[in-house]
Amino acid sequence: MGLDIITIPCLSDNYAFLARDTQTGDVALFDAPEAAPILGELEAHGWKLNDIFLTHHHGDHIDGVAAIVAETGARVTGAKADAHRLPPLDRALRPGDSVAVGQSNGTVLDVSGHTVGHIAYHFAGAGAAFTGDSLMALGCGRVFEGTPEQMWQSLSQFLDMDDDTVICSGHEYTAANGRFAETIEPDNPDLRARIAEIAGKRSQNQPTVPSILGQEKATNPFLRVSSPAIRQRLNMADKADFEVFAEVRRRKDNF
Ligand code: ZN
Ligand code: FE
Repeated sequence: MGLDIITIPCLSDNYAFLARDTQTGDVALFDAPEAAPILGELEAHGWKLNDIFLTHHHGDHIDGVAAIVAETGARVTGAKADAHRLPPLDRALRPGDSVAVGQSNGTVLDVSGHTVGHIAYHFAGAGAAFTGDSLMALGCGRVFEGTPEQMWQSLSQFLDMDDDTVICSGHEYTAANGRFAETIEPDNPDLRARIAEIAGKRSQNQPTVPSILGQEKATNPFLRVSSPAIRQRLNMADKADFEVFAEVRRRKDNF
C-alpha cells in the first residue's frame, strides 16, 4: 500500500508529480506547469488521471490545467482561499481538510508565505508531501506575499513529520540552494556530503527532487534555525526562531 510517484520536469526548472495509489490505481497530479510532458507521461504508463491538486496560484504551477482537464476530464482541487486566482475548482479546500488518492489519505496544510493561500498535501501513510514552493530541496520559496514569521510557521510543520517522508517540491533549484546553504553552515558535514551528491546528480542531468525530509532536517538552513552553530554564526543566539529564519531568508534573497 502506498503511492507510486513519478517526477515530471516541466518548463525550464519546474517539477510536476503523478502519484498512483498502488491499491486502486487511482492517479493524481500535483501541480500543472504545462500540459504536454504530463499528458505524455500519463500515456506512456497507460494511466488515467482522476485528480489535479494545486498548491498555489503562480502560473508555473497552474498554466497546464485547462489543457489537461480538456484531455482527461480530471477533477481540479485547490485552496478555497485562492479560488479567485486559480483555474475553476471542482473542490475548494481549507487547511485541515482530508484528501485522498485512492486509498492513500492526505491532509491539507496551510503553508502560506511564498503566497498567502499556498497549501501543501501530506500523505502520512504513504510517506509523501507535495510542497510546491514552500519547503524545497535545500531551500524554501521566496516570501512574496506573506511575512517571514508566517513562512516560518508554515515550514515548522514539516519538522513534526517522519524523517522518511518524501518531499515533492516544485523546482530544480537545489545546486544554487547548496551554494547558499554553505555560507550559513560551512562546517556541517551532512551538508557538504549532500552538496557533493547534488553535483553528481546534476552533472548527469538527474533531478535532485524529490528529497527526503530527514536530509532536509539535517542540511536545509531554513529548517535549521534552532541550530546553535547557525545562531552563533549569525550573532542571533537569543533571538526567536522566526527572527533567525527571517535573517537567513534575507541573506538568501541578497545572495
Ligand atoms: Zn510559486
Ligand atoms: Fe514556482
